[in-house]
Amino acid sequence: AAKADGRGRMRSFSASISEQVEKKLVLENALRTAIQNNELYLVYQPQQHLKTGLIEGFEALLRWEHPEFGKVTPSVFIPVAEESGLIREIGLWVIEQACMFSRLLPSGMRVAVNLSPLQLVGHDLIDRLQDILERYDIPADRLEFEVTESMLINSASDMDILTLLKAMGIRIALDDFGTGYSALSYLRQFPFDKLKIDRSFMKEIKTHQDALAVVGAIIDMAKALDMEVVAEGIEDEQTLKLLTLYGCDTVQGYVIARPMPEKDIAVFLENYRLAMQ
Ligand code: C2E
Ligand code: MG
Ligand code: MG
Ligand code: MG
Repeated sequence: AAKADGRGRMRSFSASISEQVEKKLVLENALRTAIQNNELYLVYQPQQHLKTGLIEGFEALLRWEHPEFGKVTPSVFIPVAEESGLIREIGLWVIEQACMFSRLLPSGMRVAVNLSPLQLVGHDLIDRLQDILERYDIPADRLEFEVTESMLINSASDMDILTLLKAMGIRIALDDFGTGYSALSYLRQFPFDKLKIDRSFMKEIKTHQDALAVVGAIIDMAKALDMEVVAEGIEDEQTLKLLTLYGCDTVQGYVIARPMPEKDIAVFLENYRLAMQ
């Protein structure tokens, strides 16, 4: 009986692997036509500067709504886009959309775009980007790129591209700090403008003294290295107060606003301005 059970489990296990592979292929094929079919769009989440209370800018977050599958979450389709190489084309589309969006904002506000490490490989990113900036007449300093620490970015040529981007005037933020391949030595390999503390810490700092201590240390370190520090994923007032107390520069999270479509931005900014008075 034990043997039969074991085989049964084996069978269902391998079935689920092939199901997963098949699901990935189906998603990959659907993603191939997602841009042409207008299934992709961006939503934007504001970042609030704590000392001044002003909105500094927005992070652009990609969304995919497929006519059959419905909404597919970025944590599912971004990896598919990366494995298939589609992320290069999609990533450029995201940059272009974000540039168009930035023209609707007051001139001091920036738009942050997430960059996959794969977009840094090869040299056409810089050319394509310059092309987009010229076409839409956007100064490079309206843009910020968010990158995460990963094996890929560790190569010298990827660092060279980040250096070129920075020289163009684009700000570079280190995203999801404190997780994954997180290594402090990374911070010395590139002069990041901004450090974003991963949201996994934010759930904990109200109740766990050790999490708060780590966040406090990250904030102090960022300041010592002359980087702006952002906390993301803040959902409640109490957490917001703690970050203010610990000297965090900027916050982003549901407590300020959820990511929203472009059409809601003007009303959001107007209401925000009125509430500040
Ligand atoms: P990320 O860059 O770290 O983005 C922050 C994520 O936290 C977003 O998830 C956002 O919706 C979510 N978030 C913001 N505030 C809160 C909060 O208060 N509570 C909670 N629970 N979550 C909050 P989202 O939009 O699902 O994106 C997930 C990840 O997908 C992003 O993480 C980013 O790594 C990736 N991604 C999204 N758009 C793009 C893109 O255009 N290109 C690339 N390469 N990656 C993208
Ligand atoms: Mg990000
Ligand atoms: Mg993040
Ligand atoms: Mg992330």
